[in-house]
Parts: sequence; structure tokens; C-alpha cells
Amino acid sequence: MCRQAPAGRLDGVTTTTESAARAESVWKVYGSAAAEVTALRGVDVALDRGRFTAIMGPSGSGKSTLLHCLAGLDAVSRGAVYVGGTRVTGLRDAELTRLRRERIGFVFQQFNLLPTLTAQENIGLPLAIAGRRPDPAWFGTVVDAVGLRDRLGHRPAQLSGGQQQRVACARALLGKPEVIFADEPTGNLDSRSGAGVLAFLRRSVDELGQTVVMVTHDPTAAAHADRVIFLADGQIVDELAAPTADAVLDTMKRLDTGGVAR
Ligand code: ADP
Ligand code: MG
Repeated sequence: MCRQAPAGRLDGVTTTTESAARAESVWKVYGSAAAEVTALRGVDVALDRGRFTAIMGPSGSGKSTLLHCLAGLDAVSRGAVYVGGTRVTGLRDAELTRLRRERIGFVFQQFNLLPTLTAQENIGLPLAIAGRRPDPAWFGTVVDAVGLRDRLGHRPAQLSGGQQQRVACARALLGKPEVIFADEPTGNLDSRSGAGVLAFLRRSVDELGQTVVMVTHDPTAAAHADRVIFLADGQIVDELAAPTADAVLDTMKRLDTGGVAR
């Protein structure tokens, strides 16, 4: 299964050989002294452009921490993260804010939509904050890809959970970020709505050349990815290419019985 991003898609901002995001010997320690928790213990990983990567592992294994560190939402304790050719670790706050705003898209488990704004306004908000106008043709492509054309005037409370998460996906995609990071995007959805969101993330990679990195603990969700990375106790312990749900489940079971998982 080879799904490469078309070269030159990002207007010369990046090269095709470089990873979309990368962690180098990343450690993350929360708290201090007696309350210290080591969430990541020397993680090395490079995430390919134009691909859909899933990060799996039991609860507490460090999935969200890794995603937040890669996305520049949280600082690493040791090591470094890169987005494209940019070393994120060590950036000043203003540069970090700009990187997150201009080059990264996020989808969270809780949707994080503004309740007073319509779907259309929510989708356009990050670009509006950045002082950019969406290209109308691209806006139409994104809205059609998530199937929300007839819901654009609705507020979040008037939308189902699945529709709200598709609004959040469209919002993440509208700015054509170099990477979309999604943390358990189907965690609050029933399986049918979740399947809609996963199908959209998959299509954004296959048809729109997007790069997606998704944390999940659901083998069925992970099976939508091109590659699955398994975390246990803050370390990468395994990975699968072109995964099936069964293969993901087998790996999870093996890790559980191996005693590394919690
Ligand atoms: P996952 O997403 O795989 O469930 P997390 O990355 O959220 O795991 O957490 C990894 C470990 O770090 C857990 O032991 C968790 O309790 C701890 N942790 C996460 N965030 C914090 C925080 N802000 N302060 C202290 N400990 C944290
Ligand atoms: Mg988590």
C-alpha cells in the first residue's frame, strides 16, 4: 500500500524527503520529586508525509503526551521534536504560536467547537484569527469532503456528535496544515459516526494529500491508518504497516501478556 503525497503540494515550504514530524530521543517528565511521572522514555519516531499514522497503546502509555509534544502543545523534557524542517523544541512562544496556527491542524476528542458560532464560522475561525481568507473553492472541497454542505448554518448544539467532529475535521483541514494531529477523534462517537470521521481522515490523505497522525485505543480505528505505532509505558514497542483490525488487536494482546502494557 503506497500512498505518497504529490510532490510540490505545499508550495515549496517543504521537501518530499523530509518527515512531516519527528521525535528524537524524547523524554517527558511531569511534576517533580515525589510526584514525578515519566510519560515518555526516549521516543524516536519519524512520521511520513502524505500518510495516515495511528498511535496506539493502553491508557496511560503516553499517546496523548507524544501527540502534544509532536504538535508543540507541550514542551519535551529531553530530546527534540521537529515539524518538517523546523526544530519545534526551543522555539519562542510567539514562533510556537505561529507554527501551530499556520502549519498544524488539531482534532480533539471533545470537538472543541465554539457554541455560539455556526458550523461555517467554526470551520473558518483559525484562518480568521490568522488574518487569512479561505479560498472559496478549497472551502467547498473541504465542506463536501466532510458532507456538511447542508449544515453550515447550524450551531454545534444543533448537530450530532459525528457532525460536530466533522466540523472540527474541516476546521483542521481548511488551513492546509502540514500535519493534522487527532487525539482519540472517535472516542466520543458511536461506531457509525466514528466510521464517518475515520473515512474522512482517510480520504483527506488519499485524495487531498494530507498527513494525519491519530491517537486511538480502538483497533478498528487504527486499521484505517497506513502505519500503526504501539506505545507501552512511554516507549515505542512495536509497529505495523498496512494494518488490519485483527493484526492490531493481536499486537495489543501480545503487548498486554508481555507485561509491558498497563
Ligand atoms: P494516554 O494518552 O496513552 O492515555 P497520557 O499521555 O495522557 O496517556 O499519559 C501518560 C502518563 O502521564 C500517565 O501516567 C498520566 O497520568 C501522566 N500525565 C499525563 N498528563 C499529565 C499531567 N499534565 N500531569 C501529570 N501527569 C500527567
Ligand atoms: Mg490520551
